[in-house]
Amino acid sequence: MYIEAPFLILLSIIKNLRIPKGEFNMNKNIPELYGSLVFNDQIMKNKLPKDVYKALRKTIENGTHLELEVANSVAVAMKEWAVENGATHFTHWFQPMTGITAEKHDSFITPIGDGQIIMEFSGKELVKGEPDASSFPSGGLRATFEARGYTAWDPTSPAFIKEHTLCIPTAFCSYSGEALDKKTPLLRSMEAISKEAVKVLHLLGYEDVTRVTTTVGPEQEYFLVDKDLYKKRKDLIFCGRTLFGAMAPKGQEMEDHYFGALRPRVSAYMQDLDEELWKLGIPAKTKHNEVAPAQHELAPVFSTTNIAVDHNQLTMEVMKKVAEKHGLVCLLHEKPFEGINGSGKHNNWSLTTNTGENLLDIGKTRAKTTRFLVFLAAIIEAIDNYADLMRMSAASAGNDHRLGANEAPPAIVSMFLGDEISAIVNAVLHDEYFNKPASIQMETGAHVLPHFMKDTTDRNRTSPFAFTGNKFEFRMLGSSASVAGPNVILNTAVAESLSHFAEKLSDVSAEEMDNAVHALIKETISAHQRIIFNGNNYSEEWVKEAEKRGLFNLRSTPEALREFVSDKNVALFTKHHILTKEELFSRYEIHLENYGKTIHIEAKTMLQIMSRDFLPSLMKYMRTVSEEICQKKSACADISTACEEKLLKDLTAYYETITEYNTKLDEATKTAESMTDMLEQGFYYHDTILSIMDTMRESVDAAEALIPDDYLSYPTYDKLLFSV
Ligand code: ADP
Ligand code: MG
Repeated sequence: MYIEAPFLILLSIIKNLRIPKGEFNMNKNIPELYGSLVFNDQIMKNKLPKDVYKALRKTIENGTHLELEVANSVAVAMKEWAVENGATHFTHWFQPMTGITAEKHDSFITPIGDGQIIMEFSGKELVKGEPDASSFPSGGLRATFEARGYTAWDPTSPAFIKEHTLCIPTAFCSYSGEALDKKTPLLRSMEAISKEAVKVLHLLGYEDVTRVTTTVGPEQEYFLVDKDLYKKRKDLIFCGRTLFGAMAPKGQEMEDHYFGALRPRVSAYMQDLDEELWKLGIPAKTKHNEVAPAQHELAPVFSTTNIAVDHNQLTMEVMKKVAEKHGLVCLLHEKPFEGINGSGKHNNWSLTTNTGENLLDIGKTRAKTTRFLVFLAAIIEAIDNYADLMRMSAASAGNDHRLGANEAPPAIVSMFLGDEISAIVNAVLHDEYFNKPASIQMETGAHVLPHFMKDTTDRNRTSPFAFTGNKFEFRMLGSSASVAGPNVILNTAVAESLSHFAEKLSDVSAEEMDNAVHALIKETISAHQRIIFNGNNYSEEWVKEAEKRGLFNLRSTPEALREFVSDKNVALFTKHHILTKEELFSRYEIHLENYGKTIHIEAKTMLQIMSRDFLPSLMKYMRTVSEEICQKKSACADISTACEEKLLKDLTAYYETITEYNTKLDEATKTAESMTDMLEQGFYYHDTILSIMDTMRESVDAAEALIPDDYLSYPTYDKLLFSV
């Protein structure tokens, strides 16, 4: 008894000692945690009969057809595993044109009479779903197809459990087979590039290659703000971005946030986020503070494009959910705050063969370097010919605020190759030997194809499409968008150049091949070298230079969308069976509609906040100031009230301007609503409505800077950006 008492006290202290949420728990077995909610290869191997497992692997690796018997067997194993792990429901998880994911949950329960149930899941339910498609965006396709839509299992992306639901990644199409989602064209584009790349590789003598897969590692930027503050900002709630707000005294000028030490609340969030992602088999790898205050980044280890896209969608969802748990809100908008950097997404992209080789590896032998140059030339041609599509793939109302704003690449697409690759390219162009730097060993050959040690010391952060060692990094993407679209374009455009190459080399004899390949590389790079730019993409000179070179400078989303459906682009998509003309036009309409709706909501939000919150606050403060003047004057007629009067005059002027523009904005939104031509309407939103909002914002921000906090109904930038 005597000994036990202190022991019990100690025990109760230990019991009450709580490990702060998110703090690293050393007992957690991360390898065990990793993928614990994923029906992954190991589990399939353990749970499936051998022949079923083999058949499924064949489908996953080679895209072969899957028999219903196999699907039935997989369904049983999947359900068993899901139920063991707490799932009660299943859903076909898909990616409609809304840009986010969709799911409709069905439980596994099947009544068997006597009030009893069993948990059941069939191959048919696994393979095909039938959600009502009528409420998802379908563009012009709506008129031509039934409301019925189908979801089809994508066995190449593993099923996972999310909130007691087994999620089955699926593609989504209409009754007549038109793609209504982002996954279908992506899978088609992966097929197309694989087909063309394999052809070229066979011609180059790599006959063992049967499949080429594109790989992607998307780096994701985001902001974290306090949830209680967020709830007081209608603009953040409705639009995801602030529509006005005077800049805090401190922004990002001290450059003290980038890679800075993580604050405890942010660190706890990131730890929790990592663990949630790891459970889903998402290889979250790198995390750090970004340039702007309250801005951060997460990068995963790259994977097959299809899986990377699914994972990025899930990552964005999990980021938001985990933030809620920490009393935070995760903002994925491209430009939540004016005056500091917005958020983007870097799409690191490469090509890997089924024999395990990265085709963008420069290679240490002459043959491999030749192969690298062939693929490099194909990419150069693709980006030059389809720069408009690349730009379009990153176009959105949100991203328009970033591109060209000296924080993100300009709206002009160009390629950065770096010193070494440029030197090789120049040597190829001029039939010269490549002058190797002393440190780099290279093999000499008839042509200038050095044995080259890869070195990525030089970097160019201003380029939209930069070579970074053994991959390209497409940096124009917005933070909130799915990465499916840009990869569809990239894959398809490169497939197109590779198909030219295959055609050109198909009749060449073995003896002639070497020369023909070198001629092709030279000819291609020479024809498309205008797209290469290694200088500062943020400079004014580049804009002029790009114009001289005849490059696209598509400044806004409507401009970019107009090019989307040009004849050359229709030809590209239809030739490679990525999108039919109807599918393409439906997407064009969906994007335009989305653009217009986004700005429409912003305009309405601005109008509401001005009328109901901001102008009343401003009026109240004007009254206080004028009362102050009267009081002072009545107390002593001689006292000067010049300062107060100046203030009142300024406030009054802002009040008048804001009211005037508020009326203009109201009228303009009505005009926009009445327009029937969608492209014209898109331009109207861009040219007229946004510019009214910008002008209005100037006065609002200037007035806000004069109003004391307690007169305002919302938290200002200083609180939003520096409170976490
Ligand atoms: P950076 O050079 O941009 O600082 P990293 O080398 O860390 O960054 O890579 C950034 C991203 O690129 C990561 O997500 C990484 O997994 C991805 N990545 C690396 N190699 C490849 C590849 N071969 N294909 C696609 N993505 C890749
Ligand atoms: Mg990067």
